[in-house]
Amino acid sequence: MMTHYTPANSITGQIARRLRPFQNRREIAFTLDRPLVSISFDDFPISAIENGSDVMETHGWRGTFYTSAALERVSNHHGVHFSRGHLTGLQARGHEIAGHTLDHVDCTTLSQSQLINQIEQNKTLLRAMGVTQSLNGFAYPFGAANSDLKQVLSERFDAIRGIHDGVHRKKADLNELKACGIYSDTVGKIIARIQDLARRPAWLILFTHDICPSPSQWGCTPGEFDRILLALKTVNAQVLPVRDAVALLRGHYAQ
Ligand SMILES: [Zn+2]
Repeated sequence: MMTHYTPANSITGQIARRLRPFQNRREIAFTLDRPLVSISFDDFPISAIENGSDVMETHGWRGTFYTSAALERVSNHHGVHFSRGHLTGLQARGHEIAGHTLDHVDCTTLSQSQLINQIEQNKTLLRAMGVTQSLNGFAYPFGAANSDLKQVLSERFDAIRGIHDGVHRKKADLNELKACGIYSDTVGKIIARIQDLARRPAWLILFTHDICPSPSQWGCTPGEFDRILLALKTVNAQVLPVRDAVALLRGHYAQ
């Protein structure tokens, strides 16, 4: 049998990416009279707690942690990653722990059985580390998704986050939620977007990795993260984990 590989930057790949947001959607519709914002942390390094969620807690806010269990205590370009005590501590303080692939592999490179292994083993390991909450959320590693994946994962997760940039006005696709990366070079754009939420309320999902004085290209400094939180405070945003934001929106279905 002939196998076919489509490189990511081919014309067909580009067309597939453009069409994907319209395929296998799971839409919710809503109206908001106040900005709604979810802050998420991917993988995740310990600095996301110490300089991220710990600071959120001083405002009474909680976040979502998309966790790859195999990264436990691993040190890489994002710094040293979580250990089980971090997971149980976050859970006890009301944060959402959610799924990612076990080894942080790109879902689009996996067969369906490999994919299911990666997400189920990840859940099993997180449970073994003491996570007792539902684990009903998921984020595509590298934001890599396709129409088939959206279908398969929608049977296993309640809300799935991608990395397509944007905010959700009036509707959201729970199979591939849009999100904006908080990186040193995007902070200004995000703050402008938050200010715009005051005029036109919407649901904005943010994500980042390491938060430290010399962050990676996919992280930010503690000062930059604080500026984001201050902007959220200024527009009186409601800040909720993705799980809780979806629950809120389900109570606001547009007719
Ligand atoms: Zn990731």
